[in-house]
Amino acid sequence: VKVEEKLFYNRYLVDAGRPHITVRPHDTPSAALLALTRICPAGCYSQADGGQVEIASDGCMECGTCRVLCGESGDIEWNYPRGGFGVLYKFG
Ligand code: SF4
Repeated sequence: VKVEEKLFYNRYLVDAGRPHITVRPHDTPSAALLALTRICPAGCYSQADGGQVEIASDGCMECGTCRVLCGESGDIEWNYPRGGFGVLYKFG
Protein backbone atom coordinates (compact mmCIF):
# COMPACT_ATOMS: atom_id res chain seq x y z
CA VAL A 1 0.00 0.00 0.00
CA LYS A 2 1.38 3.42 -0.96
CA VAL A 3 1.87 6.14 1.64
CA GLU A 4 -0.62 8.33 -0.22
CA GLU A 5 -3.24 5.62 0.12
CA LYS A 6 -2.55 5.28 3.85
CA LEU A 7 -2.85 9.04 4.34
CA PHE A 8 -6.39 8.75 3.05
CA TYR A 9 -7.38 7.08 6.31
CA ASN A 10 -6.40 10.07 8.44
CA ARG A 11 -9.03 12.56 9.46
CA TYR A 12 -8.49 16.17 10.44
CA LEU A 13 -10.42 18.61 12.55
CA VAL A 14 -9.16 22.00 11.39
CA ASP A 15 -9.03 24.82 13.93
CA ALA A 16 -10.10 27.45 11.41
CA GLY A 17 -8.17 30.68 11.63
CA ARG A 18 -5.70 29.31 14.21
CA PRO A 19 -2.94 27.43 12.34
CA HIS A 20 -0.66 25.54 14.71
CA ILE A 21 2.38 26.15 12.50
CA THR A 22 3.42 29.48 11.02
CA VAL A 23 6.36 30.44 8.82
CA ARG A 24 8.33 33.52 9.85
CA PRO A 25 7.89 36.26 7.22
CA HIS A 26 10.88 36.33 4.89
CA ASP A 27 11.96 37.70 1.50
CA THR A 28 14.34 34.87 0.61
CA PRO A 29 13.83 31.45 2.17
CA SER A 30 16.67 29.73 4.00
CA ALA A 31 17.95 26.40 2.69
CA ALA A 32 16.20 24.67 5.58
CA LEU A 33 12.87 26.29 4.75
CA LEU A 34 13.24 25.28 1.13
CA ALA A 35 13.93 21.72 2.24
CA LEU A 36 10.55 21.62 3.96
CA THR A 37 8.85 21.78 0.57
CA ARG A 38 10.40 18.38 -0.13
CA ILE A 39 10.55 16.56 3.19
CA CYS A 40 7.14 17.22 4.73
CA PRO A 41 5.40 13.87 4.27
CA ALA A 42 2.03 15.56 4.00
CA GLY A 43 3.17 18.17 1.47
CA CYS A 44 2.08 21.06 3.66
CA TYR A 45 4.86 23.40 2.53
CA SER A 46 5.01 25.03 -0.88
CA GLN A 47 6.86 27.84 -2.58
CA ALA A 48 4.88 30.89 -3.66
CA ASP A 49 5.46 32.69 -6.95
CA GLY A 50 7.69 35.19 -5.18
CA GLY A 51 9.88 32.38 -3.81
CA GLN A 52 8.68 32.54 -0.21
CA VAL A 53 7.85 29.30 1.55
CA GLU A 54 4.27 29.00 2.75
CA ILE A 55 2.42 26.43 4.81
CA ALA A 56 -1.10 25.08 4.68
CA SER A 57 -1.16 23.13 7.92
CA ASP A 58 -4.62 21.60 7.50
CA GLY A 59 -3.20 18.20 6.50
CA CYS A 60 -0.36 18.17 9.03
CA MET A 61 0.25 14.79 10.66
CA GLU A 62 2.16 16.32 13.59
CA CYS A 63 5.21 14.21 12.76
CA GLY A 64 7.55 16.97 13.95
CA THR A 65 9.99 16.81 11.04
CA CYS A 66 9.71 20.51 10.26
CA ARG A 67 9.96 21.33 13.94
CA VAL A 68 13.26 19.48 14.22
CA LEU A 69 14.65 21.17 11.12
CA CYS A 70 13.41 24.74 11.54
CA GLY A 71 11.98 25.11 15.04
CA GLU A 72 15.12 26.20 16.84
CA SER A 73 16.25 28.60 14.10
CA GLY A 74 12.95 30.42 14.40
CA ASP A 75 12.12 29.92 10.71
CA ILE A 76 8.84 28.43 11.83
CA GLU A 77 6.74 28.52 14.98
CA TRP A 78 5.35 25.13 15.85
CA ASN A 79 2.73 24.31 18.46
CA TYR A 80 0.43 21.37 18.89
CA PRO A 81 -3.16 22.11 17.87
CA ARG A 82 -5.61 22.91 20.62
CA GLY A 83 -7.19 19.92 22.31
CA GLY A 84 -9.67 18.15 20.06
CA PHE A 85 -8.24 19.63 16.86
CA GLY A 86 -5.65 18.37 14.41
CA VAL A 87 -5.05 14.95 12.96
CA LEU A 88 -7.16 11.99 14.03
CA TYR A 89 -5.59 8.61 13.39
CA LYS A 90 -8.24 6.12 12.51
CA PHE A 91 -5.94 3.12 12.49
CA GLY A 92 -2.96 3.36 14.78
FE1 SF4 B 1 4.66 18.34 7.66
FE2 SF4 B 1 5.29 16.88 9.78
FE3 SF4 B 1 5.71 19.52 9.81
FE4 SF4 B 1 3.23 18.57 9.90
S1 SF4 B 1 4.82 18.30 11.48
S2 SF4 B 1 3.93 20.24 8.60
S3 SF4 B 1 3.38 16.74 8.60
S4 SF4 B 1 6.72 18.01 8.49
